[in-house]
Amino acid sequence: MTAMTPLPPKEIYLIAHSNAQIRLLLQRMLTKEHRELIMRESLDEVRTAVKDDVPALIIIGEKLKGGSGLDFAAELISLYPASPVMLFVQHDTPDLLKRAMRLGISDYLTRPLRADELMEAIERCLKRGRECQQWTKSESKKVTENLRRRVDELEALISLGHSITTSLNPDEVLPAIVKAAVNLTGAEEGSLLLLDESSGELYMRAAYNLEEDFVRTFRLPVKDFTISSVIKTGLPVMINEKDPYKIITAYLVHSLIYVPLVLHKKPVGALGVDNRRKNHPLHERDVKLLQALAEFAVIALENARLHATSGQEINKLQTALAGAQDGLVVLDTDGNSVFINETARSILNLSSTGETKEEVAAALRQGELKDLFEDGKNLSSRVEITSADNRIWDACLAAIPNAGKLISFHDITHLKELDRTKNDFVNTVSHDLRTPLTAIMGYIELLSRVGPLNTMQQDFIQRVLNSAQSITKLLDELLNLGKIEAGFDRRRESIQLGQLIQMSLESFKHKITEKQIQLMVSNGMENIPVIQANPVQFRQMMDNLLDNAIKYTPQQGSISIQALPEQSQVILQITDNGMGIPAADIPYIFDKFYRAGNVNSKISGTGLGLSIVRSIVECHGGRIWVDSVMGEGTTFTVVLPLQK
Ligand code: ATP
Ligand code: MG
Repeated sequence: MTAMTPLPPKEIYLIAHSNAQIRLLLQRMLTKEHRELIMRESLDEVRTAVKDDVPALIIIGEKLKGGSGLDFAAELISLYPASPVMLFVQHDTPDLLKRAMRLGISDYLTRPLRADELMEAIERCLKRGRECQQWTKSESKKVTENLRRRVDELEALISLGHSITTSLNPDEVLPAIVKAAVNLTGAEEGSLLLLDESSGELYMRAAYNLEEDFVRTFRLPVKDFTISSVIKTGLPVMINEKDPYKIITAYLVHSLIYVPLVLHKKPVGALGVDNRRKNHPLHERDVKLLQALAEFAVIALENARLHATSGQEINKLQTALAGAQDGLVVLDTDGNSVFINETARSILNLSSTGETKEEVAAALRQGELKDLFEDGKNLSSRVEITSADNRIWDACLAAIPNAGKLISFHDITHLKELDRTKNDFVNTVSHDLRTPLTAIMGYIELLSRVGPLNTMQQDFIQRVLNSAQSITKLLDELLNLGKIEAGFDRRRESIQLGQLIQMSLESFKHKITEKQIQLMVSNGMENIPVIQANPVQFRQMMDNLLDNAIKYTPQQGSISIQALPEQSQVILQITDNGMGIPAADIPYIFDKFYRAGNVNSKISGTGLGLSIVRSIVECHGGRIWVDSVMGEGTTFTVVLPLQK
């Protein structure tokens, strides 16, 4: 079987004329193998015909059915500039020919029509058409090549940008930059030189197509050589010479470009390409390209420097933290441990090193520590824990914005011991003072019975009695607080919080009326689920909070009480519009004997009320805090668990 060679595509001639005789004449003269003649009569037919195939030649009559052939010829020329259009005219008047020429008609035909003249004219037009096509092709090839080059440049820049952002290793990035500089400029070789500040010399940090020995031993003093001038002036240098030009000793080039690497407005090196063998000129746009690459190189160098510096700083910090006396654990945003020091390891009972993230996570969720991670305690919270060696630690969780969490453990064993000693002392003294005080009060009361007293004596006795009673009250409160703190009274009963609040309010009724205080109590107290709590202590908590609200609110002030069950807890809020607490005093108001600076000494009080409240709340597994604005009012919020 013989292989079939494909036939060349047929040449299409479009002949459009309204006269059938002329169409026939042209058809006879032009019919030939491998040529397709499309004969059309009207304008619309021609329009349809040229939609599918681009004709190699168009012969168009001066007039067509449906419009002017000349106007339509102009339309075809603008549509197919490379297809010659010949005009068949009735009479070749100068005006008509002038118009035809202006429209870009390639030639014109008229009667009488001779075959040899027609063929000659067609050949001439087609030749011109082919030349025009050739020119268009070569022009578009040039444009395409130019575009491809631009695309290559862009792709190289994008890929370098990507490698700079993904790699912090200049040994990877810098050679890639030099290679891209060489490839994109079509140069033979390239190098990246850096300035050694101490010696004032340039050394080669990366190179492409240069011998290794040359790269290693290259040192160039910043004197007056061509490359060095880039460093001195901070401006690019381009050389294009027919004869090789000496840039440094024994180094001759035909062309080169060097652009500076500029960091903080100071040249720190140079990026360059050159041609030593071929006489290949470099252009201004190559300079621009190299400048863009030089910026990449500077970013890569700066990234690497910053990374190395921050790495050193982190190491220093880690060494310091590793040996710290406080325990420290850092968790990332996903809750995985990223740092743990020796003290924290021993508190959490972890082996000396090599613990897994899961082991740390499990240790942090044991015992009281897990309360740190309760929902709603996202900002900071603290708990007290006891380690295996019986030391007591204040564990505090703090959020590090956008980074994770820090858990710190501070040893408070000695503070706890001090607190215990102080409490023991206070309890003993309170207890021992109570007996003689009772005796004093007893004898004072007896005084009036043993004989008549004058008015002044009676007044003095009353004052002694009042003082003795307030000392006894203070001692009672101290003893009471000691008992709550020691957890002596662990009795729990089912308590209806609403009823308890009502009872407490009842006992303050007199004071509330006296001060004309407006009282608001939220609805639905009866719906609060029953709480297991110590009734005496709860009553005391409520009394102390109400006592404060009344005491620190002026005449005709207002107090509101709210209690809401929410999931597994009850939220109790006592709000007043009284004097408020100065921000600086807020952290201390729950401490024993602490009274805020804005309290007038005429308002009686020992500063023990809130310490008792806090002890009671904590004994019941709850939390208490205060929100207060000076001169506007105060809200105490108590959150109590329902199950406990
Ligand atoms: P007592 O032991 O008799 O209750 P106290 O009321 O001074 O004395 P706490 O109840 O412990 O002591 O209160 C401590 C301090 O907190 C108060 O002295 C006062 O400065 C401030 N304080 C408490 N409650 C309020 C409140 N509702 N408005 C303004 N300040 C308050
Ligand atoms: Mg009080």
